[in-house]
Amino acid sequence: MLLYNTLTHKKEPFVTAEPGKVKMYTCGPTVYHYAHIGNLRSYIMEDVLEKYLSASGNKVLRIMNITDVGHLTSDGDTGEDKMQKAVKREHKSVMSIAQFYTEAFFADCVKLNIKKPEIVQPATGCIPEFIATIEKLIEKGYAYLAGGNVYFDTSKLEQYYVFHDFKEEDLDVGVREGVEADENKRNKADFVLWFTKSKFDDQELKWESPWGLGYPGWHIECSCIGMKYGGETLDLHCGGIDNAFPHHTNEIAQSEAFLGHSWCKHWFHVLHLNTNDGKMSKSKGEFLTVSLLEQKGYSPLAYRFFCLQSHYRKSLVFSWENLDNAAGAYNKLVAKIGTLLNNTDTVDEAKKAELLKPFTEAMDNDLNTALAITAVYDALKSDANAATKLSAVEAMDQVLSLGLIDAAKASADKAENTEIPAEVLALVEARKEARKAKDFAKADELRDQITALGWQIRETRQGTEITPIQ
Ligand SMILES: [Zn+2]
Repeated sequence: MLLYNTLTHKKEPFVTAEPGKVKMYTCGPTVYHYAHIGNLRSYIMEDVLEKYLSASGNKVLRIMNITDVGHLTSDGDTGEDKMQKAVKREHKSVMSIAQFYTEAFFADCVKLNIKKPEIVQPATGCIPEFIATIEKLIEKGYAYLAGGNVYFDTSKLEQYYVFHDFKEEDLDVGVREGVEADENKRNKADFVLWFTKSKFDDQELKWESPWGLGYPGWHIECSCIGMKYGGETLDLHCGGIDNAFPHHTNEIAQSEAFLGHSWCKHWFHVLHLNTNDGKMSKSKGEFLTVSLLEQKGYSPLAYRFFCLQSHYRKSLVFSWENLDNAAGAYNKLVAKIGTLLNNTDTVDEAKKAELLKPFTEAMDNDLNTALAITAVYDALKSDANAATKLSAVEAMDQVLSLGLIDAAKASADKAENTEIPAEVLALVEARKEARKAKDFAKADELRDQITALGWQIRETRQGTEITPIQ
């Protein structure tokens, strides 16, 4: 399989240290709030990658951390601990917030058909490992104490900006935002491994350490958790592109300084989801979560389909219109598959292999899920019999995880005449008028009312489609 590697800036064959085994690390969520659908795009694409690697005959060990301490609002060493921010917002303890949003995250994953990694490790469960690693880094001369905190000394490395995309000027971002520079740092790029002194004395979680009562920096947790379960090397490290710098850069710096050799050969980054106003988490003031999609009548799997329709290395623009189009296409695809159910044909294995070939080619070419979906359509259009088509689609959907067959069965079960109530029809009509008058706020409000009555509407080229919410 060819897979783009952020480290080398090119597509290259994905090769693991041990043939047939993949050690895959994923940066997990910071559990201070619900995940927004932009974050979830990364997890969807990583899930497809994991499933494709498994389907190709590999045994995948997937490791994920849960950040429940040390992640500051700036991603660097400035700002406030995100968990502490949630404590102020919700007046609960850090641990109860962490538990609540960890569960919420995995509930979203279930709805999006994202498999839970074999190993899920909260950062607060590995404090002794962090301390031991930091001690060794100090011993090897890669870390220093200043003003009570322990810092990683980036000047000791031959190369710090491993992804080549970043220059020292990029680090001025914090300064531009009016955040005070940390005077304890010897070099601008240095970062905190352990905090004992910080601006926020109300930090709830603190642990004893050789440097005093404190807590770990964010980056050290992924290095230590990766090594705890993956050993001295990883085959694949994943995350959103916003993790590449400084988080992954710092992970590499400290891991390789600690180990004395290279750590992870292949880095997989998923690009952003943006709304038209350039934001990733909100649209017109609404925080974009899986629950919001459901409230508006969209199946979470339609969102998964929307993500898979585009390549992971391209930014994806989210709008309700774009999601409408994806949901419409998804439902049509499901309906098409529905017509193949209850056939009495036998699967033609040779023909099925032929149908699967373009799918494999697409996935082998840097996880081209858009082309892989085309392969699903082409299989349905082919001259194969119904059983063969169905069997090929099922095999492809084991990787894509769009729940196509289940959705087709469910909608076949619901095919009995569902009559649209007059009240819903009247609201649909009113919404049409509001849209014509470009009163989109009113149109949105009417849509919400229709949804509340258990119906979903979608604009298609043929007009407005009204279907019951499953
Ligand atoms: Zn990480």
